[in-house]
Amino acid sequence: MTQIYNFSAGPAVLPKAVLQRAQAEMLDWHGSGMSVMEMSHRGKEFTAILEKTEADFRQLLAIPANYKVLFLQGGAIAENAMIPLNLLQGKAADYVVTGAWSKRSVDDARAYGDIRVVANAEPSGFTHVPAFADWQLNPDAAYVHYCTNETINGVEFVEVPDTHGVPIVADMSSHILSRPIDVSRYGVIYGGAQKNIGPAGLCLVIVREDLLERASPLTPAVFHWKTQAEHQSMINTPPTYSIYIAGLVFEWLLAQGGVAAIEQVNIAKATLLYDYLDQTDFYYNPIEPAYRSRMNIPFRLRDESLNDAFLKAAEARGLLQLKGHRSVGGMRASLYNAMPIEGVQALVNFMQDFANKNQ
Ligand SMILES: *Cc1c(COP(=O)(O)O)cnc(C)c1O
Repeated sequence: MTQIYNFSAGPAVLPKAVLQRAQAEMLDWHGSGMSVMEMSHRGKEFTAILEKTEADFRQLLAIPANYKVLFLQGGAIAENAMIPLNLLQGKAADYVVTGAWSKRSVDDARAYGDIRVVANAEPSGFTHVPAFADWQLNPDAAYVHYCTNETINGVEFVEVPDTHGVPIVADMSSHILSRPIDVSRYGVIYGGAQKNIGPAGLCLVIVREDLLERASPLTPAVFHWKTQAEHQSMINTPPTYSIYIAGLVFEWLLAQGGVAAIEQVNIAKATLLYDYLDQTDFYYNPIEPAYRSRMNIPFRLRDESLNDAFLKAAEARGLLQLKGHRSVGGMRASLYNAMPIEGVQALVNFMQDFANKNQ
């Protein structure tokens, strides 16, 4: 097989070492005679897997003791509805719209209460994060919601706003574990697994303990954060195999030196591609430099009639899934933790060759 680099936005590339280990352990996990898929979720083997997975995740993000970690289902999108059900208590909530995902969160939450958009970057084409000073925050809001990395638009938050005690709820699906964060600045952090963690369907939720008392009685038990916290995410059968793969990814990440170490690699990867985009007139990236995502880099060819030829030639060189999201068009390269820098170098080399041939 020729060397393949997969730039998908999600489900996305996983570390090859993780897939090889899963393959080696597929039929017989640690001498148990069973695949992880075949084990009771309440047996001692899976209990050990879940405990280690949570402990490693806590270590990677330095999660304080007064936060619970939940392993839920329904992806990040299920949380769009479960956040108001778990937190709203008949109050209003503030939402900041910086791209397609945070906009979707507003649309999904509206059915559950008074959802106010307090800053919106859509009129300027989702190319930046509105200045914190311009957010029209309500001091009596139940929470402030935003998406720290807009996977489709390629916009990333670098700082945390001061919300004067109103809990921040952050969708970190597509950059969680790519850079150190101060968990204590947030009320709730959540993320679908299929970008930087593991298989689709699993959603990790980190929630501050004092926020567990606010759920509506209409909250379904499987999405009721307090109930799930009291039952180690086992109010029903959790997505056991997905949790196991996430655990292997966490072990891999710790072996790389953890989040601070992988951040340096991520900076080097993103710099390589952005530097090239900024010094050619054949391609461009429209995002204001201060808010450019390290994980998801949308770019366009100045001559869009070459798009199909670009994708075909890229695929022939083993550079896969570079097509941009259908709502944005153009191209997008996702450079998650598992993408080696060699993959980004191969992409830049290809882009140079393609530009030279088609100038
Ligand atoms: C992918 C993604 C989602 C949706 O996740 P699902 O697993 O499809 O529910 C939500 N938010 C962000 C930022 C994403 O990148």
